[in-house]
Amino acid sequence: MTKYVFVTGGVCSGLGKGITASSIALLLKAKGYKVFMQKFDPYMNVDPGTMSPIQHGEVFVTADGCETDLDLGHYERFIDEELNYTSNITNGKIYSSVIEKERKGDFLGATIQIVPHISNEIKNKIYEAGITSKADVVITEIGGTVGDIESSVMMESLRQFRLEIGKENSLFVHTTLVPYLYGSNELKTKPTQNSIIELRRLGIQPDILVTRSNISLTESIRKKIALFGSIPTNNIIEAVDATNIYEIPINFHKQEIEKIILNQFNLPVRQSKLKYWQDLIDSVNNLKEEIEISLVGKYTELHDAYLSVVESLKHAGYKYGTKIKIQWVDSETLEKDKDLEKIFKNTKGIIVPGGFGNRGTEGMIKAINYARVKNIPYLGLCLGMQLAVIEFARNVCNIKDASSTEFDELCKNPIIDLMSDQKSIINMGGTLRLGNYECTLKKDSLAHKFYGEDKILERHRHRYEFNNKYRELLEEKGMVFSGINESANLVEIVELPTQSFFVACQFHPEFKSRPTRPHPLFDNFIKASLKQK
Ligand code: GLN
Repeated sequence: MTKYVFVTGGVCSGLGKGITASSIALLLKAKGYKVFMQKFDPYMNVDPGTMSPIQHGEVFVTADGCETDLDLGHYERFIDEELNYTSNITNGKIYSSVIEKERKGDFLGATIQIVPHISNEIKNKIYEAGITSKADVVITEIGGTVGDIESSVMMESLRQFRLEIGKENSLFVHTTLVPYLYGSNELKTKPTQNSIIELRRLGIQPDILVTRSNISLTESIRKKIALFGSIPTNNIIEAVDATNIYEIPINFHKQEIEKIILNQFNLPVRQSKLKYWQDLIDSVNNLKEEIEISLVGKYTELHDAYLSVVESLKHAGYKYGTKIKIQWVDSETLEKDKDLEKIFKNTKGIIVPGGFGNRGTEGMIKAINYARVKNIPYLGLCLGMQLAVIEFARNVCNIKDASSTEFDELCKNPIIDLMSDQKSIINMGGTLRLGNYECTLKKDSLAHKFYGEDKILERHRHRYEFNNKYRELLEEKGMVFSGINESANLVEIVELPTQSFFVACQFHPEFKSRPTRPHPLFDNFIKASLKQK
C-alpha cells in the first residue's frame, strides 16, 4: 500500500515548505523507494496559467501539459521524476469538478456540502496520486499557512484521510519558524507553539517538526518545543538557513528524517545512495569562475517569474565550475535606453525567456539585435525565439514591419501568427499549446550536435507560431530551421550557425534541466558564453 506524507506550514509563508517536501522525497528515493509528489494550492483559480507571473511566479509545465505551481519545478529538479495532472490540485479544480458533477446529476437527491462532498473530492485526489503513480510514498505539500481560511477544508480532508488509513500509513510534517530576537539575543519558540496549537485545533497532531531558524537550536529550546508540541525531540528537524537549496536534503539526512518516516511506516531502512548529490554540493561550493548573463524580460521585478530559467543557467554553470551572475534587464526600460554598450559591458551571454503580450517586446528585440550584431551568445526561449525571428526578418531580410499578430492583430507581415487550431478558441485557461511535443532535429545542425539525437521531446506553453510563409526567405538569408515538429509542420528551433552561439526554441527547455544533468541548450549556451572575451 502507498504511504502518504503531508507537509504543512505554520507561522508564515516562505519557510521553504516546497524544498522541505522535495528533500524528504529525494531522501526516500535515495533509500530505494519510489516516490511521487503533489501540491495543493488553496486558491480558486483552476490553475496558475491565468495568473500574472508577477503575482505568482513562474508557471511550471508538466510533460502531460498541465500548468502548475513553481514548486513542482523544485520537485522535479530534486527527485528527477516526471510529475503529471495529479500533481497540482487547486481549490478551483476541486470546486469546479464537484459543481460539474452536481449539474450532471451525480449526487441526485443530496444537498452538496463542503463536508463531505468537497472533502471527499480532495481525499480522492490524494488517493488518485497514489494509485496512478504506484509510488511507495506520495509526498503532498499543502500551500499557504495553517489557519488560512482558504486551506481549512484541505486540512479537514487530511484529518479524515489519516483516520481512514492510520498513522502507520500517513505522516504529518509541519514546518515552522523559530525566530531569533536581537536585543534579548535568543531563539523564540512561541510562534511554533502557536502554530502547532492551530494545527491541533484542526484535529491534526504533527509527527515531525521542521524548524526554520538562522542559528542552530539549543538543547533546551529543542526540549521546550518537544514538550509543548508533544513531539519526540528526535523528530524535531532543524532547517538552519542554507547557502544553497541543494544542501538541505543532506542537512536533513544527517538528522535522519527519512529513518523517522520509514520507522513510522514500518518500512525497512536501507542504505542511502546519496553520493551523486554530495558530489553536486561539492561542485556547487567550489565554483572557480563567474560570468555575467543578461536576462532581458518584462517580469524582472519578481525573479521567481523566471525560476526554472535561472536554475537551468546555474546547472550549466555547475558543469563548468562557474557561478552565473544574472544581470536583470527590464525590457520596457531598455526600449528607451540608448547606451546598450554600457548595459551589456560585462555581459557574456544574453537570454530572452518566455512572456506574453506586447509590453516590453521592442526592448527585447533591441537586446537580440545587439547580441546578433555584436556576436554575443544568445539563447531565446519561446517568446525569445519568436522575437529573434522578427528581429532577423526586420534587420536582415528587410521586412521592416515584421511582427506578431499577438502584438498587432492587423500587422502586414505576421512572421509570428496564431496557429489555425487556436483561432476558434475563446477560453483563455488551459488552451495554449501545452506540454510535450516531438521535434525532429536537422542533421548537421547545432541543435543536432548539442542533443546528439534525431528526435527530442520538449515541453511547450504558447499560442503563437512561426509563420511558414516566411521560411524560405529567412533561410536564404542564413537562418537555419533546425528543429521541426513534423506532424504539424511547426518550427521548433532556429539557429544562426555563423554566430558564436545563436539558438532559439519555441519550447521551454528550462523545465527539463536537472542540477546533475544540465539541459543541452543551456549547457552549450554557457559553454559559448565562457569563450566570450
Ligand atoms: N506569447 C507567446 C505565445 O503565446 C509566447 C509564449 C511564451 O513565451 N511562453 O505564443
